[in-house]
Amino acid sequence: MESIWKKTAALPQFPTLEESVHTDVLIIGGGLSGLLTAYLLKEAGIRCLLVEAGRICSGTTHNTTAKITSQHGLIYHKLLRQGGRERAAAYLSANQQALAEYRRLAEGIDCAFTQADNVVYSLDDREKVLREAEALAELGFSAEYTEQTGLPFAVAAALRFPQQAHFQPLQFAAGIAQHLRIYENTPVHGIKLGQGSMTADCGRVKISAENIIIATHFPFINRRGGYFLKMYQMRSYLLALKNAAPVDAMYVDEADDGLTFRNYGDMLLFGGGGHRTGKQGMAWDELEAIARGWYPQLEVAARWANQDCITLDRIPYIGRYSPATPQLFVATGYNCWGISNSMAAALLLRDLLLGRENAAAQLFDPARSILKPQLLVNAAESTLNLLTPTTRRCPHLGCALKWNEAEQSWDCPCHGSRFTKAGKLINNPANHDWYKAPRA
Ligand SMILES: Cc1cc2nc3c(=O)[nH]c(=O)nc-3n(C[C@H](O)[C@H](O)[C@H](O)COP(=O)(O)OP(=O)(O)OC[C@H]3O[C@@H](n4cnc5c(N)ncnc54)[C@H](O)[C@@H]3O)c2cc1C
Repeated sequence: MESIWKKTAALPQFPTLEESVHTDVLIIGGGLSGLLTAYLLKEAGIRCLLVEAGRICSGTTHNTTAKITSQHGLIYHKLLRQGGRERAAAYLSANQQALAEYRRLAEGIDCAFTQADNVVYSLDDREKVLREAEALAELGFSAEYTEQTGLPFAVAAALRFPQQAHFQPLQFAAGIAQHLRIYENTPVHGIKLGQGSMTADCGRVKISAENIIIATHFPFINRRGGYFLKMYQMRSYLLALKNAAPVDAMYVDEADDGLTFRNYGDMLLFGGGGHRTGKQGMAWDELEAIARGWYPQLEVAARWANQDCITLDRIPYIGRYSPATPQLFVATGYNCWGISNSMAAALLLRDLLLGRENAAAQLFDPARSILKPQLLVNAAESTLNLLTPTTRRCPHLGCALKWNEAEQSWDCPCHGSRFTKAGKLINNPANHDWYKAPRA
């Protein structure tokens, strides 16, 4: 189940932190969010260090599809109508700026960075695509409306963003990480909050810091910020296919459970089946059967799965962890678009630490209103799973775990923690194993 990225990249290794230290900024988590933030802070002359629980990029980042685009489904119409022009423009500009920063940083890194258009299509809702095209025109962005695509099936309508990009994310991360002060196999178990300096507890050693950035995918401090109320996780499945026709652009269905396509070398990366972690959906076998209908000669070179945090309003949480913790920051909730959004996060966090203005600060502020319909869905899901009688419970907040047949894992529908059959932790927010061996 190794991703094509892991099969085709070698990441540098870093030492474990062996003695307590002090730093100006501590970054917790060595995925793209943490690495990019550390890189931009270092460029800005800020002294920082990054700690990673395992090896860098061992979380969501190594299982991504690695498209770099500001087109995240059909979001601009909704953003414009519900949030207003300023917010919609801030989202677009933050992600276009992120794309430009990737272009700048990738120049010196051998990471298969390739310019490509991105296309979002709808199978059945032409009106929705037209509305999105109008919203983008209102924002001054020229996206091309079309009913023809290079896909092997018909669509109702599609919208094309020009000059976006894709890359090999781990080769890119390796190029970035080599410049940074990183400690691997150094998990943070908790943070002692205080005025002035804070202390991160890494077991035998402690790290004191003026500012701490939590870039752990799902944040691990429950008593501040209410992230366990504000987010759930969505899981999807991916295949790297040989002997399948390449696509002329990156493609994705606007529906959460739809399909995704991009090229990588001589392979087609194909996936889909998005569903709330802990629920049932399409997995590899179904996806392979669909692809085989178009490409009978295909060979599967790799298959893997991934999950990401979904927020109440589908906008990331980037900024101060909570109003009561002004020196504790967070970058999370990327809604399956965390390649560009993690760069947007790094840019915003750098500006916040430097006291600079950033047009996306308000949009991404984690303290914004939580009064959204998704809050009720999350609350209902948690209540149902807390009340489900079973001995297999998630150590995060006690929800009933559900068996994932495709991946042979125990998954939590409340917040997306996952465990092996034997109870070993695979995905956070739980931060330790669920030891009880399941009955056969
Ligand atoms: C199927 C799928 C496809 C996707 N494709 C795309 C795409 O094409 N384009 C796009 O923009 N986005 C995509 N995304 C989203 C994107 O991959 C993620 O949002 C992004 O990789 C998240 O990076 P991160 O650094 O925030 O998290 P992670 O990569 O998960 O990094 C967090 C790190 O923190 C570490 N950590 C956790 N707890 C601790 C602790 N207590 N102490 C120390 N370290 C800790 C973890 O080990 C991990 O390495 C996709 C998501 C999915 C689910």
